[in-house]
Amino acid sequence: MYKRVLLKLSGEALSSKENNLEPAVLKELAIELKRVKETGVELAIVVGGGNFIRGKQIQDMGMDRTQADYMGMLGTVINALAVQNALENEGVVTRVQTAIEMQKVAEPFILRRAVRHLEKGRVVIFGAGTGSPYFSTDTTAALRASEIGADVILMAKNGVDGVYDSDPKLNPEAKKFNRLTYMDVLNKGLKVMDSTAISMCMDNDVDLIVFNMNEKGNIEKAVRGEVEGTTITQ
Ligand code: UDP
Repeated sequence: MYKRVLLKLSGEALSSKENNLEPAVLKELAIELKRVKETGVELAIVVGGGNFIRGKQIQDMGMDRTQADYMGMLGTVINALAVQNALENEGVVTRVQTAIEMQKVAEPFILRRAVRHLEKGRVVIFGAGTGSPYFSTDTTAALRASEIGADVILMAKNGVDGVYDSDPKLNPEAKKFNRLTYMDVLNKGLKVMDSTAISMCMDNDVDLIVFNMNEKGNIEKAVRGEVEGTTITQ
C-alpha cells in the first residue's frame, strides 16, 4: 500500500451530462475519498478544469492563448473549491492551495506547508494548475507529485480502465497494456498525458497508475496497489 499519493481528477470527473458541477457526483466522490483517507494514506489532489474551459479549445475559437489558459486555471480553482466543499461535508479535513495567489479564497501554494498538511492527515487540493499558461493539469500532477515526494500518481479516468494501443471506444480490437515504461509511452505515442507531463514523470521517477474511477471502490483499490489498470514506471 502506498503512503502518499497524488490523485489527478479531470474536470469531467465532477460533471454530468447536464451540469458542469454535479452535486450528486461530488458527493459520491467525497464518500469514496473519505474511505480512502480512512486507510491512513496521505492524499493530495490535482483537479483539472476541462468541465469549464480548456485553453487550447478556446484558442481555436479565436481567443488569445494565454488569456484562455488563465481562464482554464480559474476553472480548476472553482473545481478545487467544489471538491473541498464536498469533502468537508463528509467530515474530511482539507486545504486548498492555489498556484495563483487569491488569499481570500485559498492558501497560496507553499510546498512545506502542503507537506505539513499531508502529515497531519489533511487532504490537500491543488488549484490553478502550475500557475503558468501553456501547461496542463496533467503536468501539474507530475510537478506536484515530484515536489511533495508522492509514491505514485493515480490518474483517474472516466470510463477507460487503462492505456490501450488505440481508442477502445472506437476500436473493439484495441489492446490494453498492463505495464509500460515512460519510454514506451513516448515512442508509441500513447495518449496517456501530454508529452511534457510524461517527460516530467520519467525524469523524476514518478510512477503512474491509469484506472477507471467510474467503478466503485477503484480509488481505494488503486491506493492499495490492487486496481486493474495500467502501471507506468521508469
Ligand atoms: N491550464 C494552464 N496551466 C496549467 C494548468 C491548466 O494554462 O498549469 C489551463 C489550460 O488552458 C487547460 C485548462 O487550464 O486546458 C484546464 O486544465 P486541463 O485541460 O488540464 O483540465 P482537465 O482536462 O484535466 O479537466
